[in-house]
Amino acid sequence: MNNRQLFLQHVAQTSDAPLALEMKEAKGMYIYGVDGKEYLDMIAGISVCNVGHCHPDVVKAIQGQAASYMHLIVYGEFIQSPQVAYATYLSNLLPNPLNCVYFTNSGSEATEGAMKLAKRYTGRHEIIAFKNSYHGSTQGSLSIMGDEYWRNAYRPLLPGIHHLDYNAFEALEAINHKTACVIAESVQAEAGVKAPSKDWMQALRKRCDETGTLLILDEIQCGFGRNGTLWAFEQYGIVPDVLLLGKALGAGMPMGAFIADKEIMWSLTNQPVLGHITTFGGHPVACAAGLAGAKALIEGKYIDAVNSKKELLLKHLKHPAIKDIRAVGLMVAVEFESFNLNKKVIDQCIADGLITDWFLFAANCLRLVPPLIISEDEIMKACSIITKAIDKVLTP
Ligand code: PMP
Repeated sequence: MNNRQLFLQHVAQTSDAPLALEMKEAKGMYIYGVDGKEYLDMIAGISVCNVGHCHPDVVKAIQGQAASYMHLIVYGEFIQSPQVAYATYLSNLLPNPLNCVYFTNSGSEATEGAMKLAKRYTGRHEIIAFKNSYHGSTQGSLSIMGDEYWRNAYRPLLPGIHHLDYNAFEALEAINHKTACVIAESVQAEAGVKAPSKDWMQALRKRCDETGTLLILDEIQCGFGRNGTLWAFEQYGIVPDVLLLGKALGAGMPMGAFIADKEIMWSLTNQPVLGHITTFGGHPVACAAGLAGAKALIEGKYIDAVNSKKELLLKHLKHPAIKDIRAVGLMVAVEFESFNLNKKVIDQCIADGLITDWFLFAANCLRLVPPLIISEDEIMKACSIITKAIDKVLTP
């Protein structure tokens, strides 16, 4: 059996149509197949590799830390300098009072930790989330996922959860003195890039303040510069009580985090029971990689160029078959009339050397979330491949 057959036989699949392309290596904006074929990466591992694949600073940091130590003990027992360095760096980039970082293995685990934190801190158990949201795949984060069809497959779910309409003012009245936390994506990603209005976000913040409810913002996919500002919440002029990060946080290594004020975070440390335990969360190698990636992103001033790159992409990505394009920074959904057409365009793009896919709750939308280091020439190249791919699939 070849590797493809062994993969399909022995590696559990998440869908019945895995791409199953075998890749050899990846550098910067490109991924290379074992057959030597070059692919322009327009999804960055789904918003993970902001500074591209195998950034030399990230590779060096991983090698250096792996040679010093990898795993010593479960989370928080020893002082591990890579965790201290990255948490301090993040705290300095964040507004007050987001000054205390709990590192996890994944975005889903960050969501779990934040919900537990809200319960301990407020003594309440009701949680409000939004329709069409995605916060992870563990049982708790599935319970708050905003897709009923999906949730139904995993009942019984966590009790006390309510789903409101995103970006709807009247929905906010459901937040009351029983609500432990509201959890919302700063921009809904898997819904197909849906940004709320600034007024709504401010009303949400106000309602949480009035009711003593913690506001948790999930920036696992939309944060870390992708929006054109370092944190998406900056665009709304608000600060959450708890921020969720993941994906780009580890610059390619597995990592998530929930971040809050030290005083709030302390409620996880208080007796009688420990708050959250993780063996590998905050892995020293992931912290070293994440810090190197974050420094490369900020010192390279890539975030400053996100919005002009977005404009260039919108200017050149034009085709009559495109029904709508929603873009928040370099997080772009290209909408077609059906999943069927979108899937054909995606397959054609891959055949023509460009990696893209669709969104979980917006399968008729093609996803463009490239590494933020993408050049103007590469944007033009991507637009040309995509528009030609649409022509090819529409030509009888
Ligand atoms: N929240 C959002 C907004 C996400 O996009 C994701 C991942 N797609 C998660 C949470 C879960 O992260 P992970 O897959 O690392 O558990």
